[in-house]
Amino acid sequence: MIKTKIVHRPKLNFWQKLYFPEVFRGVLLTSRHFFKNLILHFFHSFGLFRRIAAAVTIQYPEEFWKLPSRLRTRHRLTKREDGSPRCVACMMCETVCPARCIYIVAEEHPDPNIEKRPKSFDIDLGKCVYCGFCVEACPEDAIRMDTKILDIAAYSRQGMMLDMNELLNPTTFIPRREASRKS
Ligand code: SF4
Ligand code: SF4
Repeated sequence: MIKTKIVHRPKLNFWQKLYFPEVFRGVLLTSRHFFKNLILHFFHSFGLFRRIAAAVTIQYPEEFWKLPSRLRTRHRLTKREDGSPRCVACMMCETVCPARCIYIVAEEHPDPNIEKRPKSFDIDLGKCVYCGFCVEACPEDAIRMDTKILDIAAYSRQGMMLDMNELLNPTTFIPRREASRKS
């Protein structure tokens, strides 16, 4: 039997029912933060009160926040010394992926010591939930999520597909909206 938790709407007091005092209170709160930060930044520019932190706005995309080293970002495929993918097309990542967004086509590897390699390797970022299971499941350390690339917006579903070339060379990736502006 499913238990349902009933949440009662809190009763408004007299001042809250008047509406405008609450609006005024909200404006006062926002103004307080604004002027506090304004004054602190003014003093910080003269080297004063630096111990008291003031709010900082990052001017994205010109400025980037320093990303934590463990953050899962866009995928990449790692390479062997000769530049070929380390992936052996074992399909572990494709199988474990809860979003079913990895599509691998395998083919025989020319090296008899390696059984298979991917003929194509696509990831649909429009479906990916960034769980990192693919990275954990890979027995070859062939896929990682450490590119620090966060800009993955696209105008179409097809634009969210990463092919093997983009996965192997993530620095060549041009955000789709930039590409569409140039074309
Ligand atoms: S991060 Fe998760 S959802 Fe995304 S491709 Fe890997 S396993 Fe699939
Ligand atoms: S788990 Fe690793 S080796 Fe296996 S197909 Fe995926 S990326 Fe390739």
